Amino acid sequence: MAHVKLHIPGPVEVSPKTFEALCRPMIGHRGQGFKDLYAKLQPQLQTLLSTKQLVYLSTSSAWGVMEGAIRNLVAKKVLNCMCGAFSDKWLDVSKRCGKDAEGLQVPWGSPIRAEQIDAKLATGQFDALTLIHNETSTGTMSPLAEIAALKAKYPDVMFIVDAVSSMTAVPLNFDALGIDVLLAGTQKAFALPPGLSVFVASPAALAKAATIADRGYYFDFVEFEKNAKDSMTPSTPSVSHIYALASKVDDFFAEGLEARYARHHQTNQMLRDWGTKHGFTLFPEAEFGSKTLCCFNNGAKPGGRVVDAAKLQKLMKDQGILIDGGYGKIKGTTFRISNMGDETPATMQVLIVALDKAMAQL
Ligand SMILES: *Cc1c(COP(=O)(O)O)cnc(C)c1O
Repeated sequence: MAHVKLHIPGPVEVSPKTFEALCRPMIGHRGQGFKDLYAKLQPQLQTLLSTKQLVYLSTSSAWGVMEGAIRNLVAKKVLNCMCGAFSDKWLDVSKRCGKDAEGLQVPWGSPIRAEQIDAKLATGQFDALTLIHNETSTGTMSPLAEIAALKAKYPDVMFIVDAVSSMTAVPLNFDALGIDVLLAGTQKAFALPPGLSVFVASPAALAKAATIADRGYYFDFVEFEKNAKDSMTPSTPSVSHIYALASKVDDFFAEGLEARYARHHQTNQMLRDWGTKHGFTLFPEAEFGSKTLCCFNNGAKPGGRVVDAAKLQKLMKDQGILIDGGYGKIKGTTFRISNMGDETPATMQVLIVALDKAMAQL
């Protein structure tokens, strides 16, 4: 079968080196080999997230940990900050967990702002909030530092942050932000195959979780902490994914984290420049545009060029590259292209040549 390269915003292209690591011989998850694997990874992940807390490995996609955070940390009422398909869904998930929940909805393409959260938290109704740092469906990055600063004013509110499509692409300093949970699935910016999530919890989050009676087992944060202290996971993990993660994280440090962030900035700018050249505008407010993908406006908002997104996608696929034709209610009226993972200026140039060729045929 012909290989179609993924430039969709997750899952993204996985390197042969990563697949090789994934295929290493199996080991027992309670043996020294696994403990050594996790123990080597732990300080690297702590450096990546600038934290002294233990970083946990969950064999699940991101939603497992997103739901787990609700089950572990919400006793009173959760504020779900909503600005796109994934963040909107978190309200639904909170309710399905039987929690009292309220949405803070802004129009898709707008970020969540601190003053909007402040106004809600000032009511005193909430003991937790959920925020998606980089809303992948709309390509919008909310100002995390500005929002996290509110934690000082509301120390008893659990700040739960999804960084699924931004972690490793922009700096995320967990301890300095002072937030309570930071999580990511690894099929996005980490460029691993789907099936593994990485997350970290604050001491306050662990203390709160310990007081919650019905937090379940598979995503019990207290179990994750207890096991991580021994370089283990609560249940049998996807050891193969963890081999792949170890290989990938070595790559991050070989490149250098600052160089990695700079590379994402540069490759994202290449995409933006391509859009501008063809008359497209960004769907999100430009200053809040994501660094890991571009969600181009294609009729969802006034202004800019409009093309047949399905046809553009088809013309790209014919050249062996998959781009995304828009997500949820903005399918077709936006389209998305990712620069996450291993993409370099050179690989982005190949993409851009193909995009230009497709545009010439529209
Ligand atoms: C992809 C994505 C998710 C959902 O991840 P799953 O791996 O499908 O569980 C959640 N949040 C964001 C921001 C995403 O991009």
